[in-house]
This record gives sequence, structure tokens and C-alpha cells, in this order.
Amino acid sequence: MMDENKELDIAEKAIAEFSKEETARQKQQQEKKKKKDYRVIYFLILGLCVVIIAFQVPRIFALQKENAKPHRLGTTETDRQTDACIDNLWKIVQRLQLDQKELGDYACPLNHKPYILTLENDGYSVECPNAELHGFSHLRITTNKPIPELIP
Ligand SMILES: [Zn+2]
Repeated sequence: MMDENKELDIAEKAIAEFSKEETARQKQQQEKKKKKDYRVIYFLILGLCVVIIAFQVPRIFALQKENAKPHRLGTTETDRQTDACIDNLWKIVQRLQLDQKELGDYACPLNHKPYILTLENDGYSVECPNAELHGFSHLRITTNKPIPELIP
């Protein structure tokens, strides 16, 4: 009788011990799984950062390029034509300053329209007839102030 009880006790203890170990093991596994979940989130965030950086880098380079370019409106070809137009204005003003009435047939290189010559109080003003094609509202030089006026 006594022996039987003892044996039962031992068996119960063993079962209790086993289940205790089992729950501990399960807990450990759950914690591992939790850690794995965190790792997944961590990698997702890391991946997102990489994607954002990958999108930003070309934009940063584009910004740097933009800053390197001269601050002029329009394409490079338009800029070249604008320079040619300003050159024409210079030549006309020089002729006017030398009191030459022969102005030649200078015309805006963009659409070959003749320049607008206006007599002002104390001199002449030569203006491109299509300044807006150059990206300006006015593009002129006056004999009084022989500096190209590029009014945006
Ligand atoms: Zn012009």
C-alpha cells in the first residue's frame, strides 16, 4: 500500500516536472518567435530606408546639376539665340552712338523680326520684338545706358 502511493507520487512529480519543462520550452519558443517577428519588422524598415535613399539620390544629383547650370530660362539653343540677339542689339546701339543712321538689317535670330527702335528723351532704345521667346518680358539696350536689359 505504502509503496504504491510512493510510486504514484514519483510518477506525479515526474509528470509535473515534465510539464513544467514543457511550458518553459514553449515559453522560450514563443519568445524566439517574437524576436523573429521583430527582426522581420526591422528588416522591413531597413528595406524601406534603402528604397527611400535610392529614390532620393538621383534627385540630389539632379539638384546639383540644376545648380551647376546657368540660371537662364529655356534650352541651351534658346540661350545661344538670346546671346546672338543681345549681340545684335549691341551692334545697333554702337551704330546709333556713332550717329550712323544706317542700321543694317539686323533681326532677332529667333524669328527674324526687325528690332523695335524707339526714340526716347535722351537717346534711343533698341528692343527685341519677341523678348518672350527668349524667356523675358523685355530685352533691350538703350544708347544712354549701354547695358543689356533683360527684364524677366
Ligand atoms: Zn530676340
